[in-house]
Amino acid sequence: MIYTPPIKDMLFLLNEWIGLEKLTALPGYEEVDGDLIEAILEEAGKFCTTELLDINRDGDEHGAVHDGDSVRTPPGFREAYAKFIDNGWTGIDANPEHGGQGLPKLLQSLIDEMLSATNLSFKMYSELSHAAYHLLDDVAGDDVRQRYLPKMVEGVWSGTMCLTEPHCGTDLGLLKTKAVPAADGTYALTGSKIFITSGDHDLTENILHLVIARIEGAPAGTRGISLFLVPKFLVNDDGSVGERNGVVTAAIEHKMGIKGSATCALNFDAATGYLLGDENRGLAAMFKMMNTERLTVGIQGLGFAEIAYQNALAYAQERLQSKAPAPRPDDSRSADPIIYQPEMQRQLLKIRAQVEGARALAMLAGLNVDIMEKAADGAAAAEAEQTVALLTPVVKAYLTDLGGPSTLTAQQVLGGYGYVREYGMEQLVRDCRITPIYEGTNEVQALDLVSRKLTGKTGEFADRFLANWQRFLDDHGGGASDADIIAPAAAEMRQLLETSAWVQDKLQTEDAAARGAAYPYLRLFALTLIGALWAQIVVTIRDRDGAFYDRKRKLARFYMQHVLPETSSIATTIVAGDTALADFNVEDFIA
Ligand SMILES: Cc1cc2nc3c(=O)[nH]c(=O)nc-3n(C[C@H](O)[C@H](O)[C@H](O)COP(=O)(O)OP(=O)(O)OC[C@H]3O[C@@H](n4cnc5c(N)ncnc54)[C@H](O)[C@@H]3O)c2cc1C
Repeated sequence: MIYTPPIKDMLFLLNEWIGLEKLTALPGYEEVDGDLIEAILEEAGKFCTTELLDINRDGDEHGAVHDGDSVRTPPGFREAYAKFIDNGWTGIDANPEHGGQGLPKLLQSLIDEMLSATNLSFKMYSELSHAAYHLLDDVAGDDVRQRYLPKMVEGVWSGTMCLTEPHCGTDLGLLKTKAVPAADGTYALTGSKIFITSGDHDLTENILHLVIARIEGAPAGTRGISLFLVPKFLVNDDGSVGERNGVVTAAIEHKMGIKGSATCALNFDAATGYLLGDENRGLAAMFKMMNTERLTVGIQGLGFAEIAYQNALAYAQERLQSKAPAPRPDDSRSADPIIYQPEMQRQLLKIRAQVEGARALAMLAGLNVDIMEKAADGAAAAEAEQTVALLTPVVKAYLTDLGGPSTLTAQQVLGGYGYVREYGMEQLVRDCRITPIYEGTNEVQALDLVSRKLTGKTGEFADRFLANWQRFLDDHGGGASDADIIAPAAAEMRQLLETSAWVQDKLQTEDAAARGAAYPYLRLFALTLIGALWAQIVVTIRDRDGAFYDRKRKLARFYMQHVLPETSSIATTIVAGDTALADFNVEDFIA
């Protein structure tokens, strides 16, 4: 596998499209400048290509191994992790109070893309830990924060997110793990958690499980869920690692992909836990972690699509097969590289146009996370918070739905060589498959978008958000040389507004129809919004010449002609397809 970190595109989007000052003007980021960001991205890219890409195959072939008492990571992971933490990659956006670098979340998300592309299995060990760190920083008291967080930032202790149980995945209200209060103010947790990423491994001295459980006597359902910190090893008063807590790894899962990531079944047997936040308010706290994670998982899908594209392109440039359409690049050859075949070009461009648009979407969300957390202006922070809430399910679902088809398309470009292991493409297909499933399935993201983000005050915000885009597109279209880019984006935005109104109406009158439309609606939303982002990018570079900008314009045009038109059929299906869906009752499926 090859990988060239897409830093040029990242920097273009940051410096020229977003405008770096939007980030550096935020309190706390005064020291951040373009040179620093570029240097960090270059270093991260180097680490990913030199340390992580090669061991990705080892992770797949050897997998994580459970040998009864402990879990061993694949060959090379321990050495790479030691360098990873030595270089400070676990502290990029962490609080300087805990030894972190306090850099923007947006920068972290760009690094996340490169880590995901080159070795998602490896990344998972720090990814959940990163999310656990931020949750603890938000909800834990001072003593917990001082005791645990510097070690997490240093990367010598890691964290997990323990939600799922055998009978309870999407519907966390069903959880059974029990917490019994002890006399010393701690709790004894008993229950089984499954599918826990990095639940056990040999990379860190301690593992801090963030566990949701029900305190004895708490209400049933989601209103009775509390959040606990349950360390693998208890921590002594002097901060050193103490005796083993009652958490045992029962097994690790044998998975389709990301085999180097240890996905564990954990048994908690009267394990000592520390309550975080208020009793019965655990799910709300956990949702903060899940929302951060949802954006990060979306970026995983983007990373896969990017590396799949790069490798398919490299193959298409080298593979000599069939003659190119006239005029041929070289008449003396008996066959030309398949990149000259329009169908291969179409497949490659379809990935690339979506990847670059999706990156813009992810960066828009990332910027708003920074504004939400840092802006001194309360109104700006509140607006950014609403934007993040609206975009989170879209980023999670659309970007992970982009990863799968992109790896499949790239596999197709490699023909039979894509199907065999040699070129690594089949590993990408398998590794990527988990992303639409975990961290809230994409169906759940779609329901979140429709039933929570389109209703009430958040619904009013969504209407305003889309109407603002409509206004932008209308204002920048007329008669310009790029009208063939702006006009379709504007037309599809109008269609999205109309379809949103239809869905909002159904939410009032016919819940099942609104739910049935949720998944296609999310896709419609994402494709249309990305069309608007492409249009805005083209407007931004109107007066700029050069090959890079010309390619951007060509790619934007390709998006409008080959990707965006899917929105028309989706909108038609949503508005005209609800009666056919409603005709079926469950018995009809069985007959
Ligand atoms: C590799 C891996 C790593 C994981 N890591 C973690 C982790 O670190 N921590 C953790 O707690 N969990 C983790 N999980 C669990 C993961 O988050 C769950 O698998 C996921 O949330 C779905 O739950 P489930 O598997 O029980 O599926 P179910 O909830 O049983 O869902 C089955 C199907 O029904 C659909 N469905 C369910 N409810 C609805 C609805 N209301 N509307 C429409 N469709 C619906 C789902 O979308 C899905 O298609 C991991 C899983 C895997 C495989």
